[in-house]
Amino acid sequence: MLSTLIYRSHLVDDVPVKELEQMVIKANSHNELYGVTGILLFNGTHFFQLLEGPEEAVLSIYAAICRDPRHHNLVELLRDYAPARRFGNTGMELFDLRKYDKESVLQAVLDRGTSKYQLTYSDRALQFLRTFVEAREKENYFEIPPADYWDFISDDTSLSQPEALATEAETFSVSMQPIIDPFSCQTDSLEALIQPVCEGSPLDDSSALSRDKIYRNDLQSKKAAFALAKKLGIKAQTLSVNLLPMSLVMVPNAVNFLLSEIEANGLVPEQIVVEITENEVISRIEEVETAIKQLKAAGISLAIDNFGAGYAGLSLLVQFQPDRVKIDHTIIRDVHKSGPKQAIVQAIIKCCSSLEICVIATGVEKPEEWMWLEAAGICNFQGDLFARPKLNGIPAVAWPEKIN
Ligand code: C2E
Ligand code: MN
Ligand code: MN
Repeated sequence: MLSTLIYRSHLVDDVPVKELEQMVIKANSHNELYGVTGILLFNGTHFFQLLEGPEEAVLSIYAAICRDPRHHNLVELLRDYAPARRFGNTGMELFDLRKYDKESVLQAVLDRGTSKYQLTYSDRALQFLRTFVEAREKENYFEIPPADYWDFISDDTSLSQPEALATEAETFSVSMQPIIDPFSCQTDSLEALIQPVCEGSPLDDSSALSRDKIYRNDLQSKKAAFALAKKLGIKAQTLSVNLLPMSLVMVPNAVNFLLSEIEANGLVPEQIVVEITENEVISRIEEVETAIKQLKAAGISLAIDNFGAGYAGLSLLVQFQPDRVKIDHTIIRDVHKSGPKQAIVQAIIKCCSSLEICVIATGVEKPEEWMWLEAAGICNFQGDLFARPKLNGIPAVAWPEKIN
């Protein structure tokens, strides 16, 4: 199947532009062998390449392109399928946009086209091409330094909290993972992650437990989270807990249970955030809405967790107007390399900013993900890059520091 791939990249500083022509000649003989054609645009700083050919060949050539040290910050913009090649001349022509004046440059590029139909602007690939040629969208190019630009220095471990001793025979194990603001070196909140201690016990919804029991266990497990917070002396620190929204609906007096456990452990509702996952909510939205109103009325904050992983995420912002949105790790993973992920994250940021909702990136594992997200305007992060969840304790945080 004829597939199309478009990416953008940044020429590294110490490659002379003259070398590029040599590079293209070499690449062309290789591409020809695999039936990959297209066009390569260069504007003095950035490349824009459209590759067309059999899918596997395009992907393997793109993988090789990604390994080329002469450019960096590659962002894949489009992957699509087409009935015919748009730029079918043998090999890959290098087109230097600087050699043309503004008025004629786009037409000059389009004149390279080989499609038997006129190249039309309703084609996404050509829209990308036009946007690049006209240098629109440039404000969305975040050039990030390489991963080793930062060192991640752990908190002095004596400052991080010791593991609390497990007291009674506990049904749930609770781990804490911080949500942090790396630039201000502050911990925004701690998330209590609860796991059943043995298989088939609470929260394990694959087991034969009835739905009722699952909701009751889910709610009751919050007691363990608040108790650990007390043991660790979190004081005024914000504490996030996960809750199935249906637990609030199905268990009688759920909100009162939470409030009395919060108080019993020396905490206040204003420091508690309840995280709910979007796809659970949809089926019984009205009942959930009532429960959420009660939570908010009691002073507890609301976060939508795993945002972007399910469906109808945006409509939840209309229904609930949460205090926080946690972007799902599937969107965060390799965001620095993916045009679609970048567009989604930027839309989430814009939307949440208009609604004064705090955005948190979760599951951050790579320095490049963090740097791109920070450049896009996110300040709060959670993930193994900074701190892994710690059982019965508060983990040390690895804060980024510039390497000189
Ligand atoms: P979640 O609320 O999205 O919590 C984050 C999960 O992602 C945790 O897994 C955490 O260990 C993991 N994580 C954090 N940073 C990274 C990272 O950088 N990379 C990767 N690969 N993973 C990371 P965990 O502890 O297994 O929790 C899984 C899910 O279980 C939670 O996802 C949450 O939805 C659910 N859960 C946890 N506690 C409760 C609870 O009390 N009630 C309910 N209903 N669900 C809970
Ligand atoms: Mn969560
Ligand atoms: Mn998650």
